[in-house]
Amino acid sequence: MSNFLNQLPLDGLKIISFCPICNEHHKLIEAKILEEKDRNHLIYLKCKKCNSSIVSLVAFDGMGINSIGLVTDLTAEDVLKFKNYPTISSDDVILIHQFLEEKQILKN
Ligand SMILES: [Zn+2]
Repeated sequence: MSNFLNQLPLDGLKIISFCPICNEHHKLIEAKILEEKDRNHLIYLKCKKCNSSIVSLVAFDGMGINSIGLVTDLTAEDVLKFKNYPTISSDDVILIHQFLEEKQILKN
C-alpha cells in the first residue's frame, strides 16, 4: 500500500481497497496514484488474486469522498497514455465500419 492510502479516512480506504470482481480486501490490492490534481486522485488498482484492474477517480470535497471506479483491461501506462486522447464518437465508429466494409476486411 502506498502512503496515500494510509492517509485516507477509513471510508475512503474502504472504497478503493476492495476488488469488485472477487471481493478480495486490502491485502492483495495494489494501488498506484496515476495523477493528483487539487483534491482529485486518479488511482489504478490491481487485484493480485484475480488479476482484475480498476481505474478509479477519487475526489475529496467538503462533504466527504466521492469515487467512481471502472473495471478495465488497460495497464496503468495505458491509462496515462489514453486519458487525454479525444473521445471516440458514434460517427468515428460508423467511419471505421464503412472503411472495413469498403475494403472487405470483415467479409468471410
Ligand atoms: Zn480480485
